[in-house]
Amino acid sequence: MTTFSTDSDCHGGPDPSRKRFADTRRHLVFHPQYQTDLPAYGLNQPFALDRGAMVLRRLTMELGQTPAYETPRPLERQQVTRVHTEAYLESLTQSSTWLEIFELKEELDALGRLPGAVKPFHTILDDFLLKAGGTLLSARKAIAGGMCANLGGGYHHAFPDQGRGFCAINDVAITVHEILREKLAERVMVVDVDFHQGDGTARCLAGRKDVYTFSIHSHEGWPEEKSVSNKDIAVAEKDQARYLEMLQDGLAASVQEFQPDFVLLVDGSDAYEKDVLPGTKFLKLPLSVMQKRSEFIIDLFAERKTPLSLVFAGGYGPDVWEVHYHTVRQLLARSGVTFGAAARIT
Ligand SMILES: [Zn+2]
Repeated sequence: MTTFSTDSDCHGGPDPSRKRFADTRRHLVFHPQYQTDLPAYGLNQPFALDRGAMVLRRLTMELGQTPAYETPRPLERQQVTRVHTEAYLESLTQSSTWLEIFELKEELDALGRLPGAVKPFHTILDDFLLKAGGTLLSARKAIAGGMCANLGGGYHHAFPDQGRGFCAINDVAITVHEILREKLAERVMVVDVDFHQGDGTARCLAGRKDVYTFSIHSHEGWPEEKSVSNKDIAVAEKDQARYLEMLQDGLAASVQEFQPDFVLLVDGSDAYEKDVLPGTKFLKLPLSVMQKRSEFIIDLFAERKTPLSLVFAGGYGPDVWEVHYHTVRQLLARSGVTFGAAARIT
């Protein structure tokens, strides 16, 4: 069983402000290449793949300096094939496979490019592998140091043999496999709070006694056919005023039942009222609820001294980064990173 101390060592010492910035490297994973050049691939949908950069920008404003972070390496083929089939992985070298994953109807040219693109579509796999590598690195760092955030990743819809819903490589399931294989944890819980059910993760990890999948999601909308998690909480549009209560009661009971020694939080922001994806219209939660959600989850596991790593998952449009910012800020604060009172965000 891995535990950590919430008594941060960042207090005291000869220069607390220096220590403060050094500390963030233990809790943040990011790479400038996370900012995928979507137009180069011919993609003009309302993705928000630069959310990590937005969160860092806001943290920089608050801390007065760009927070230090660690950069990941891409996942290796062998790691990916612990969850995905060889045949599926091979299919990702074909741009046509990516058309299906991104739900596009456009025609590809002879080089596998979308209209207006300069890069073949399938080469976007490199970015997915890098961000998926970030998910694994963040988990390892969390287990070593308490809590860590990968400022990207969270491709929770990918099945072992099929990419779906903008998700090609299930970095969540791959990371869980790796952490258990390396015996860094014994009982792993995935807490998925994305608007959409963590259906791919549930399917990839089904049947494992050392894994517990928890998903709170919209009852309405995609995916129409849900998978079976260990605990599913489907929130109907008419019940969204009870979202926090349903989360708190359900998660507390699941934690009590399973007693995890490592938690991977899939922190989708697409239930936020400012999300622009048409399919997320059924849940429109205000920022105050999203903040309370972050605080409840981070505090719950900080107080249990259970290592926690988070990934971003879904979130679309120019404003959803605010949700991730609050979760990351809460994670850093509970890890002992100090924020100036004058710069406190309301
Ligand atoms: Zn989603």
